[in-house]
Amino acid sequence: MVEAAIDVVADGRKHTATATRPAPGEATSVDLTMRESTGAWEAALQQLEAAADVLGLDQGMRDLLATPKRVLTVAVPVRRDDGRLEVFEGYRVHHNVTRGPAKGGIRYHPMVSLDEIKALAMWMTWKCAVIGIPFGGAKGGVVVDPASLSTGELERLTRRYAAELLPLMGPEKDIPAPDVNTDEQVMAWFMDTFSMNKGYSVPGVVTGKPLAIGGSQGRGGATSLGVTYALFAALRERDLRPSDVSVAIQGFGKVGSGVAAHLHDAGCTVVAVSDVGGGVLNRRGLNPQALTRHRRETGSSTVATFPGADRISNDELLALDVDVLVPAALEGVIRADNVDTVQAGIVVEAANGPTTPAADKVLDDRGCLVVPDVLANAGGVTVSYFEWVQDLQAWFWSPDEVSSRMRQVMERAWGEVTALAEEKCCSLRQAAQVIGVGRVAEAHRTRGLYP
Ligand code: NAD
Repeated sequence: MVEAAIDVVADGRKHTATATRPAPGEATSVDLTMRESTGAWEAALQQLEAAADVLGLDQGMRDLLATPKRVLTVAVPVRRDDGRLEVFEGYRVHHNVTRGPAKGGIRYHPMVSLDEIKALAMWMTWKCAVIGIPFGGAKGGVVVDPASLSTGELERLTRRYAAELLPLMGPEKDIPAPDVNTDEQVMAWFMDTFSMNKGYSVPGVVTGKPLAIGGSQGRGGATSLGVTYALFAALRERDLRPSDVSVAIQGFGKVGSGVAAHLHDAGCTVVAVSDVGGGVLNRRGLNPQALTRHRRETGSSTVATFPGADRISNDELLALDVDVLVPAALEGVIRADNVDTVQAGIVVEAANGPTTPAADKVLDDRGCLVVPDVLANAGGVTVSYFEWVQDLQAWFWSPDEVSSRMRQVMERAWGEVTALAEEKCCSLRQAAQVIGVGRVAEAHRTRGLYP
């Protein structure tokens, strides 16, 4: 392990944190004192305010939409393998449940903060409304670097965190899903913990779980596939063919690696990818399968060690001269202080909140086509919705049924957002925000105020 200063981008700000650089397979530990920044939440509020202006919402409705319905902070005590007791902080936020049960991922990351989770929950509310699925918005997270935990410690942390969320969770109340650093195994532990406490199996309490316990066909790759649909739709807007475009992807995790594979298969040239450990560039194109194989076979925690390509930093990746940039890591990576370096003509937001409002304006003014997160990465929650429906009905669909229905949902949402953007001469983000916020406001008005 080597002590090093690393740049961490979170909540729309760049922080320098002290970290120990791991050997392949080893854990990274990041100084947690940085986690109080508020950039993502401020960005989410600004976006809401802009949409509220267009919709002419009164102050009361603005306040209602700006205020999370519930915020739960929990202590998550975990017995480490060496016998020590360590306490982690966790959160679950229900931003709004007016259109249906709370839906949103669970994130394990050392930079998780309550404000970040509030922002991510708010974006989930708009996303579900934009694509027209009957969920409200939620998000959860634990301030932890999961790479520093053994599998047993990760399971104990997950089960204790799930147990702390029991009062909020349930198929009709709150349905978590995977997000950064969580996967279908984590969802299986969540489902099992909830079910053991109920005394019977409740598959519909989480989505993104394995097929063996009620997962859906196609959920694993749904977010990547949806991002790919959105990217191809953006290419059509610009009269570009997949085989003619170069792409850089920041984040080679569940979403980013899947997008890279789909684009490569479709003939795009994926020139660069990166992860938290750095990136690689090959102008002739990278083979995503070879990158994944390299990580698996060498045990490297990063793609940056991939041979046969030049090593680049995350900042350099964002600044590459490519046709399409796909941020697929964390929020706030394209900011006022680096947006001038971005050269791509199309940005497809696979990550949630990767572009700050100030940077978004610069890109829009410059004519860059930004496909906003609430549209671009909505394939994941769409198939999560299908998984929930299948679990409730105990009736499961074929892979083709799942993918064709997801395509229908994404295409309808794309059509509605682009039509409004054209009508109002505004960006896709503004149009998507207006549709999402407008639908939630309408649901509030229709239901009326209790009591
Ligand atoms: P993941 O944990 O599988 O992958 C995250 C990737 O980001 C990893 O490659 C990681 O190394 C990289 N990363 C982390 N910190 C970084 C940093 N500071 N700089 C550069 N790279 C960094 O997570 P994921 O599920 O692929 O999620 C990625 C993004 O997509 C997140 O914004 C998430 O909210 C969003 N998203 C995910 C889903 C889903 O279904 N998983 C759905 C919608 C949106």
